[in-house]
Amino acid sequence: MAKVYLTGAGPGDIELLTLKALRVIQQADVIIYDRLVNPEVLKEAKLGCECIYVGKENKHHILPQNEINTLLYTKALKHERVVRLKGGDSVVFGRGGEEALFLASKGIDFEFIPGITSAIAVPEMANIPITHRGKSVSFRVVTGYEAPEKGYAQLDWNSFKQDETIIFLMGLHQLKNICQQLMGVGKPSDYPVAVISRGTLKDEKVIVGTLADIYEKAKDLPTPALIVVGEVVSVRAMLLGER
Ligand code: SAH
Repeated sequence: MAKVYLTGAGPGDIELLTLKALRVIQQADVIIYDRLVNPEVLKEAKLGCECIYVGKENKHHILPQNEINTLLYTKALKHERVVRLKGGDSVVFGRGGEEALFLASKGIDFEFIPGITSAIAVPEMANIPITHRGKSVSFRVVTGYEAPEKGYAQLDWNSFKQDETIIFLMGLHQLKNICQQLMGVGKPSDYPVAVISRGTLKDEKVIVGTLADIYEKAKDLPTPALIVVGEVVSVRAMLLGER
């Protein structure tokens, strides 16, 4: 019986792939992968494995989601092991749940293989711990991409008043608006912010600033990039100073 493995490939650095993910990649007959997956990972696939790119660009998906679903289904009808590979973890803004629901509705067996999400690992590898005693006791991972017409909720900015770490994914193009909105609900203009571009990869860039100045400093960074807002950002300077 065929099975589709909804697999997270981690944030970029291929050494952040889990052993379970590596095993299903090595055994796969077909791998269907996204733009955020490090293509180096595909070298682990067996000879004859069909690798299909269904990369997603920021707003316009190269292949619409319903066509990806259909592709997963048709491949599962012909092959035993289909791997659906995504950057980070497939259920963190990765539509893994939607794909699983579709497969289940078609009677296709599936399994989630968790990946290391960029939301935690990218700040961490840039020396920003997303919780830190005395600075932050909670964190939120939020999409910076707002499109109510597509079912992405509009953010309730008033709910960000509390001191906690906020990680914005898909938010670089909204950086100015994010900073303005957070200052609008009372966060000080010198509140710490970092933008990390291409985290965990060799060309990673980390820019640290404040709500007032981060936009000018970071707006032109290459994607993928995420935004970390909160006092924990200051831990980076403490750690680098101690080295
Ligand atoms: N499922 C993914 C997130 C998908 S949303 C995960 O769990 O990591 C895509 C967003 O993730 C990007 O817009 C960016 O904000 C963030 N992202 C993914 N990989 C990244 C990386 N290597 N460096 C910085 N941000 C990254």
